[in-house]
Amino acid sequence: MLIESAEFTGSFTSIDACPKSPLPQFAFAGRSNVGKSSLINMLCGRKSLAKVSVTPGKTQTLNFYLINRKWFLVDLPGYGYARSSKEKRAFWMKMIEKYLLESTHLATVFLLIDSRITAQQNDLNFIEWMGVNEIPFCIVFTKADHPSSPAIQSNIMNFKNTLLKTWEYLPQIFISSSEKGIGRTDILKYIEQTLQELRQTK
Ligand code: GDP
Repeated sequence: MLIESAEFTGSFTSIDACPKSPLPQFAFAGRSNVGKSSLINMLCGRKSLAKVSVTPGKTQTLNFYLINRKWFLVDLPGYGYARSSKEKRAFWMKMIEKYLLESTHLATVFLLIDSRITAQQNDLNFIEWMGVNEIPFCIVFTKADHPSSPAIQSNIMNFKNTLLKTWEYLPQIFISSSEKGIGRTDILKYIEQTLQELRQTK
């Protein structure tokens, strides 16, 4: 998919305030500092559409971007930032969950996982929560600048094996590096295919 236009629509603090447009929404979720803003900028071919944070834990709103005037990219607040208060973390998590449960035009969630570290409990909990609530999602392993490095391979394999302990099958998985432009074609192709399927089922 070629990105012909990417327009910032707005930042919202509740689902009730989000655009009521019937266009499909593709949401991007993950722990603070996972590389979400960088991935969004890489996918859209823009340097600073989403703000790459120097201080993690900054995105606290649901940020909507209209892409090609056909679909919304929804940047969800990063979760689990250790240095923010427990109350704030719980508040953002509730905001994310409420959006995912109530958004009637949600197509897929891309859950970003840092490929440089081992599986984190809050990511596993979030996956479990999406499974229980039947939220369609894919996993994107981020920061894989050298995808074939043993550390990255081992983290990804262990993560998959952990999932297979409770899941019958794995979700769609992408490997990405915003630094190297890895994963862009595959993720955009997946979005395009999903948009096509949605059009056919209308
Ligand atoms: P966010 O908090 O999830 O939006 O994460 P950011 O996009 O702000 O990135 C957090 C940090 O990780 C920044 O210092 C980025 O430069 C760095 N980062 C993001 N993506 C990559 C990547 O693909 N490779 C490398 N090496 N660093 C990355």
